Amino acid sequence: NVRVRFAPSPTGPLHIGGVRTALFNYLFAKKHNGTFILRIEDTDQNRYVEGAEQYIIDALNWCGIPFDEGINKNEKFGPYRQSERKHLYKKYADELIASGNAYYAFDTAETLDFHRTDHEAKGKTFIYNWHNRLKLNNSLSLSAEEVQAKLDAGDEYVIRFKSPQDETLHLTDIIRGDIKIDTNILDDKVLFKSDGMPTYHLANIVDDHLMEITHVIRGEEWLPSLALHYQLYKAFGWETPEFAHLPLILKPTGKGKLSKRDGDKLGFPVFPLLWKDPITNEVSRGYKEDGYFPEAMVNFLAFLGWNPGTEQELFSLDELINAFELERVNKSGARFDPDKIKWFNHHYMQEQHNDELAEAFKNIQPELATIDVNYISIVVGMIKERATFISDFWALSSYFFQAPETYDEKASKKAFKEGTKELLTTVITLINTTEDFSVESLQTAIKGWITSNNIGFGQVMMPLRLALVGELQGPDVFDIMFMIGKVESVKRIEKAVS
Ligand code: GLU
Repeated sequence: NVRVRFAPSPTGPLHIGGVRTALFNYLFAKKHNGTFILRIEDTDQNRYVEGAEQYIIDALNWCGIPFDEGINKNEKFGPYRQSERKHLYKKYADELIASGNAYYAFDTAETLDFHRTDHEAKGKTFIYNWHNRLKLNNSLSLSAEEVQAKLDAGDEYVIRFKSPQDETLHLTDIIRGDIKIDTNILDDKVLFKSDGMPTYHLANIVDDHLMEITHVIRGEEWLPSLALHYQLYKAFGWETPEFAHLPLILKPTGKGKLSKRDGDKLGFPVFPLLWKDPITNEVSRGYKEDGYFPEAMVNFLAFLGWNPGTEQELFSLDELINAFELERVNKSGARFDPDKIKWFNHHYMQEQHNDELAEAFKNIQPELATIDVNYISIVVGMIKERATFISDFWALSSYFFQAPETYDEKASKKAFKEGTKELLTTVITLINTTEDFSVESLQTAIKGWITSNNIGFGQVMMPLRLALVGELQGPDVFDIMFMIGKVESVKRIEKAVS
């Protein structure tokens, strides 16, 4: 029974890398009929940001990858906020002390600073571990009475993990294979602080165990913690879950980790949804508000580090679930290409219902306030193949709603020639004399006249299109005339010849 969790810290808006981690957890869970859990890791109260938790939930929902279990949802293993589980962790820290796997340390920040600088001056790195732990102020260098006296006196302490000397740890990662770690390079990480809060490491392992997590899928930045996490499972005597560390997401240049600044510089968002910082009021753009479809975002993110091993690039969520395998996730960093998500968006645009696109178009375009949405819907169907965003629609379709105010300069030079006036005047007569104003009769009448008089098609069709549209682009001219109607068509052509 597969159980995976996405465990973000609510320290700000979820960035694109976080969404990718959530997506891979979601895909893996669904593929194995498992459960996708959301756990909020908010033990670091200093970094807590108002609204970040709701943002995370909203982002997952918008992407269409909601969690199965978490806050207010199937709360079997709750609570799902670590701050609400605070009372739970001390007992596990005590257990590690009792078993000799952890110890109290009373060093002040000043002492630690002193040692760090002192080591640096000698060109060495200070590691708090077997190497020098006996020289420091901790329970390993004090008698039991001394330790108790300090605790009774309310001295500040931390509880540190006691990492072993001269051992080689064998770790396994589904993506990276076997990893060997020499314990001599590990430091005695802090697990618990005297303010009563566990650190990330302790809370994370205890919760993964209590919540019966089977697979830990997370970003590469957590790989250095894996050795400690393995040792914690062993110290507790708990079964270790399987691990998969996802590759970094790289800048569009491929060099270095993608950051918010890259997006600001090149004009693309790095967040799924718009975010307004509650303290600075700074607003960061989001993919949703920038006009991306969640399907495009999901398809795009799936390919950041994973590929199906075939040429296929377009995947619905269901297809992704089917095809997804952690074994096919790469070790090496995945380059973020902001043009690629546009390509996906253009594709998913074609799959949207015209009626829904029309509604959305109407909502953002004041000129459409009084226009029948069915009409807008037909227009959308005619122009969307040239659009990437709904915000492109107006530029591609305004002539369906209002006469062009100007004609494209270069195009008019090409289209309006000597004799054009006479030709267009005949077109007006033909329009006025066709029995019904259907695309077919218009076509028959106008094209018939062109061929039987040996006129070049361009000589008529170019100025006609310019008169109706204002430029030489867009759908079929006869379709456009039919859409805007007889009166309006004639009016526009008359204006062009006047
Ligand atoms: N709270 C950690 C984060 O913010 C979770 C890391 C993990 O999945 O173990 O990414």
